[in-house]
Amino acid sequence: MKLLSVIVPCYNEQDNIFDFYDELMKNETYFKSNDVDFEVIFVDDGSKDETVPRVKELIARDGRVHLISFSRNFGKEAGMYAGLQKSKGDYVAIMDCDLQDPPALLPDMYKAIAEEGYDSVATRRVNRKGEPPIRSFFARQFYKIINRMSNTEIVDGARDYRLMTRQFVDAILSMKEYNRFSKGIFGWVGFKNKWLEFENIERKKGETKWSFWKLFVYALDGIMAFSTAPLSIASFLGIFFCIVAFIFIVVVMVRQLTVGDPNNSVGWASMVCIILFVSGIQLFCVGIVGQYLSKAYLEVKDRPLYIVKEDL
Ligand code: UDP
Ligand code: MG
Repeated sequence: MKLLSVIVPCYNEQDNIFDFYDELMKNETYFKSNDVDFEVIFVDDGSKDETVPRVKELIARDGRVHLISFSRNFGKEAGMYAGLQKSKGDYVAIMDCDLQDPPALLPDMYKAIAEEGYDSVATRRVNRKGEPPIRSFFARQFYKIINRMSNTEIVDGARDYRLMTRQFVDAILSMKEYNRFSKGIFGWVGFKNKWLEFENIERKKGETKWSFWKLFVYALDGIMAFSTAPLSIASFLGIFFCIVAFIFIVVVMVRQLTVGDPNNSVGWASMVCIILFVSGIQLFCVGIVGQYLSKAYLEVKDRPLYIVKEDL
């Protein structure tokens, strides 16, 4: 008998826990007939609602359900890592609790690994139906930029929904960095990977935890690895001064070409433009260095990725 571990990071998902469990268990007969047993690990990421009591209800009903509960919200990346550490399965799946990652795909994913010899099966959504257009636009730009800047391929629309072999999971676990960007980590470890595509499904209940700003910060993490606010102020100031300088340049040029300069202070104006522009660029560059320094700083601290409050 083989074991399949299903890892489910949850943050304020009280309305989805039972639905998710029922949907997942629809695969039970398929996996039974293939001699595969289930283990479901809910990772509660510091939920403030009824998520934990509901998972406990499931535990009372079904001995295959486990719960790791964090002391506070540590983010989905930490949740996935905790789940992977806890999993004992020969195969490990990661999926969202909101049913945006359809459990019905699991048999196909399993087939690709067990029969076709893949090490991991990942999923990507082929469209972004139901997403605000502005969000889709920035997401697409992000993938363009990051793929130009990174050697590791990061696939547009890739979800964290994935089925992996034990060997693949061990490779992921060997990457212990604090600044985790899974979309990159999955690609970095290599192995033979298959992509399954599906149409975007809107979240069943509850709300997405990803505000536009959160996504923006997550994207910066992905590109620059990480940022701490004070260090990035330098970058923002740099851009700000560049813009001010540019406006100055335009104003001075337009004034010169139209009314001329009655005070004959040409030298003063251009000097201000140049000083602002150059110092803006300098601050911007120091900001970039700062970003990388802050990343190294957080890694050096070597803090745990998460703190467990309850482990059932
Ligand atoms: N999640 C989490 N910690 C967080 C935010 C989200 O564990 O800090 C979980 C959440 O419960 C869900 C999954 O990660 O199961 C994906 O989150 P969400 O649906 O909000 O993201 P989206 O699908 O909109 O990208
Ligand atoms: Mg979701």
